[in-house]
Formats: sequence, C-alpha cells, structure tokens
Amino acid sequence: MGEAERGEAAPRQTVTYFCHHDHRSVIAFSVEADVPDTWDCPKCGMPASLDSENPPEAPRIAPYKTHLAYVKERRSDAEAASILDEALASLRSKRKAGEIIF
Ligand SMILES: [Zn+2]
Repeated sequence: MGEAERGEAAPRQTVTYFCHHDHRSVIAFSVEADVPDTWDCPKCGMPASLDSENPPEAPRIAPYKTHLAYVKERRSDAEAASILDEALASLRSKRKAGEIIF
C-alpha cells in the first residue's frame, strides 16, 4: 500500500521554524529544495525563522486611526480653531434668533 503503488517518495528533509509566539513548525521539504530562511507560521501567520533564540519580530501593522485622527492630520490646530469659532458664532446667532432653543 502507498509507496509501492505511487512510486518512491522523494527524499525529504524536515526543517523547524520558530515564530514570535513560540510556535514550532516542522516543515518537510524535498532534499533538493532550497530551504527558505523564513516561513509563515502555519498556526498564527507570523513570520518564522530557523533561529529559535531569535524569531523574527511581528511585522508592524499601522494602528487603527479614528475619524478624528484623520481630521487632525488634514487640519492644523489654527484651522480647527477657526472652524470652531465659525460654528460657535453660527450657533449663537441662531440661538439669539430663536431658531435653536438649547
Ligand atoms: Zn506562530
């Protein structure tokens, strides 16, 4: 069963990769393959390397930015202050005119 029917399996080597999360993944390669220095960890997807003492750092992912953070990127504080003044002036005049009652 198996090998006799399918022919001989190509000779293999197993290589152990280590990721940032201390996962240890044993990957089988053909002995003819060039073994890569890094491999994506099958358990967590982080890069893994051959060096158990020094696994690669997790790649930097840009932190989620709030809508306000994007607005602050586009507008300076001075612009923000002038927009706020405008909005307050408009609000106050509407209050005076009785259009807004709070
Ligand atoms: Zn992992």
